[in-house]
Amino acid sequence: MNYTSTRDQSVVASAAQAIAQGISQEGGLFVPQSFPQYSYTDLVEMQHLPYTARAQRILADFLSGFSQDEIAQSVQAAYTAEKFGGENPAPLSLLQSGDRNMYLLELWHGPTAAFKDMALQLLPQMLTRAMQKEHPGKTAVILVATSGDTGKAALKGFENVEGTQIAVFYPQNGVSQMQKRQMCTQEGENVGVFAIEGNFDDAQAGVKRIFTDAGCIQLLQEHNMLFSSANSINWGRLLPQIVYYFSAYCDLMATGEMDYEGEKINIVVPTGNFGNILAAYYAVKMGLPVNRLICASNSNNVLTDFIRTGIYDRNRPFYTTISPSMDILVSSNLERLLYDMTGGDDKQVAAWMAQLAQTGRYEVGDAVKHKIQDLFFSGYCDDEQTQREIRALYKTENYLCDPHTAVAVNVYGQYIEQTGDTATPTVVASTASPYKFPASVLQAVTGEEAVGDEFEILDHLASVSAVPVPQPIAQLRNKPVRFQTVCRSDEMQQAVLKMLHIR
Ligand SMILES: *Cc1c(COP(=O)(O)O)cnc(C)c1O
Repeated sequence: MNYTSTRDQSVVASAAQAIAQGISQEGGLFVPQSFPQYSYTDLVEMQHLPYTARAQRILADFLSGFSQDEIAQSVQAAYTAEKFGGENPAPLSLLQSGDRNMYLLELWHGPTAAFKDMALQLLPQMLTRAMQKEHPGKTAVILVATSGDTGKAALKGFENVEGTQIAVFYPQNGVSQMQKRQMCTQEGENVGVFAIEGNFDDAQAGVKRIFTDAGCIQLLQEHNMLFSSANSINWGRLLPQIVYYFSAYCDLMATGEMDYEGEKINIVVPTGNFGNILAAYYAVKMGLPVNRLICASNSNNVLTDFIRTGIYDRNRPFYTTISPSMDILVSSNLERLLYDMTGGDDKQVAAWMAQLAQTGRYEVGDAVKHKIQDLFFSGYCDDEQTQREIRALYKTENYLCDPHTAVAVNVYGQYIEQTGDTATPTVVASTASPYKFPASVLQAVTGEEAVGDEFEILDHLASVSAVPVPQPIAQLRNKPVRFQTVCRSDEMQQAVLKMLHIR
């Protein structure tokens, strides 16, 4: 299987090229030229396999040029029981309050307590192998813009991985104290962490500028280095995420929840960069039986409006919310959906993306809009509703959830209200541990403002809830802070070159 670009169909890249390069030369995103199809028989077969075997099977369909052994070793190294707290790294938790039939797909049992680990424990495995195939002997310089969780998960995944250097940029005032602590205490000889003045979109734009700066690319070349990306624009980030939607369905079959062949589920995803929900879309494209994909946003509801109106407009206030990993106004991966929904119209996609860059806005026609609406439902909620949802789940189900998951649960409630659909079994992507956001979660649960530093708040939340604190978060307390640099977005390039010792 080969890959092409959303903005230029004459581009042809191998899986290894797509993963090593991260983004296509002309700025488009790599997409598979075709998708494998999974039948009911395939699902029945996979139902009896452990997660790693399900992953191997799906990955193999997309990673032409990688041997079965390479794929097996990568998957085995990524999803160890030690790192993910059990054999299934993505278990389901049934919550049956009221008339809901809701399963939380807990994607946060990995080393940094957010769903990003599901991809970022695997990506370094795939990327280093891809580099060996495409650019033997070269160092991959991985640049990451983060709204909080990708940064830590990428740092952890690439920590001391030979042949890689990684620089992470996060918005100075746009992440939780705990997220900041996680990143700034990161160990490893090949890592750099920088706060930037600005929001996530500024960080993302800055990284894209460095990626495409001819002088900078040249300079790296002279030092036998090459830029790559660990953001969800990299195909290697999306691919591992397709697996857990299939896996969730297989687990539902195994528990007897699915009553007949082809029975559909809903999938609810709290969305920022449109990566996680795009992976769900690709699963649907591959044959996973799905009724609706429910796109949940916080007050930065640019996607809610887009799905409802067909107009993408980032010219609006930016809100800093208690679900910071979704504080995004430019959802990069939407580009891949548009490519698909237009039947692969690269010229049209390129034109929309140019409009977005120039005016901050574009409008898709009715045909594309209706096609999207046939599958996607969208909704959003604000911080107050998010906190109420956390509190309600805690009081009624004794389940402590993080603010991003709470946004998803709230929007699922809106979906039920508007459609009356309580019958379809529904999988809600639970994207982070509540202990990544202890202040907001504690406030939601107790109704009082959380006081003290992040660790006092952590202890308080743990004593109130009796839910155990994930080890990697508990251990942060004793780690020294290694990174404190703050830079302007126009200083990012310099910061990278300095870190690489080539300026
Ligand atoms: C990254 C993140 C999201 C948003 O995921 P996208 O793939 O960017 O849409 C939601 N919740 C949490 C906890 C995250 O870290």
